[in-house]
Amino acid sequence: MEIRKVAVLGAGLMGHGIAQVAAQVAKYDVYLRDIKQEFLDKGMSMINNSLQIFLKKGTITENEVKETLARIHPTLDLRETVADADLIIEAVPENLKLKKEILSEVDKLAKPDAVLASNTSSISITELASATTRPEKFCGVHFFNPPQLMKLIEIIRGAKTSDETISTIVEVANKMQKESVIVKKDCAGFIVNRILVPALNEAVSLVWEGIAEPEDIDKAIKLGLNWPMGPITLLDYLGLDTTLSIAEVLQNDLDPKYRPCPLLRQMVRAGLWGRKTGKGFYDWTKK
Ligand code: NAD
Repeated sequence: MEIRKVAVLGAGLMGHGIAQVAAQVAKYDVYLRDIKQEFLDKGMSMINNSLQIFLKKGTITENEVKETLARIHPTLDLRETVADADLIIEAVPENLKLKKEILSEVDKLAKPDAVLASNTSSISITELASATTRPEKFCGVHFFNPPQLMKLIEIIRGAKTSDETISTIVEVANKMQKESVIVKKDCAGFIVNRILVPALNEAVSLVWEGIAEPEDIDKAIKLGLNWPMGPITLLDYLGLDTTLSIAEVLQNDLDPKYRPCPLLRQMVRAGLWGRKTGKGFYDWTKK
């Protein structure tokens, strides 16, 4: 199926980046939806800032910046967002109930042949698909943060996803100039988070148990494992709230051994979510 118009639901950390890549690289017509004007404005300003960085680096021209922005239509209207969309990518917060409600609504408004995809980090694709009447046209399309720079997309097959849907999304990933991998079975955490989130949780446990300072944990993993960024810094970038949600899904769906560290839960309760709230393990208001 040929994709021309893409709808992105959620203009947050991931949604704005997905919308930008879809418009800038794949040159799709993009509708970007959020629930409040201020969230849309913030998303568009993040897109603008990112485009300015590409422009300064010489990766894109002034004209391409203008054309990309012209292809992105921010809106609060769900009906306008999904009408005529060939592909709808959901990037709202990692909350099962919220995602199912939105997907069920979108399913009613979208064209019958439109493909629906979720950027969920951990929730079962089969369960999300069950909120729609088109599980064969539903799959996971897991971008990494920031979508503008990270090369990988995990494409996740739900229990009823058709081969045609998978091929359509592989083609979309190619057009976005991303590398894709297929997750053959719908399983919590997919590939990357199944490995990463337990590692991040262990890093939080090291702080909680007083074994090492965040700076030393980051230094150890950067120099000892050649990670480009230490796990504590990475947590602040990913968002402690998002990481906690993923750890809980791994714990509930796979095995109790994935239990989130109490410190992770405590920091989320305190609003210390990382860069997005200004403070996490580190203070980002001064950086
Ligand atoms: P975020 O909180 O930054 O953004 C979510 C946005 O969705 C917010 O702007 C919110 O206002 C909006 N929203 C809420 N209800 C909505 C609705 N009904 N319609 C449209 N928009 C609505 O969250 P995020 O970090 O961008 O995460 C979004 C999804 O992407 C989650 O499923 C998350 O697990 C996944 N994800 C996150 C990362 C990451 O590093 N943060 C990486 C990969 C995948």
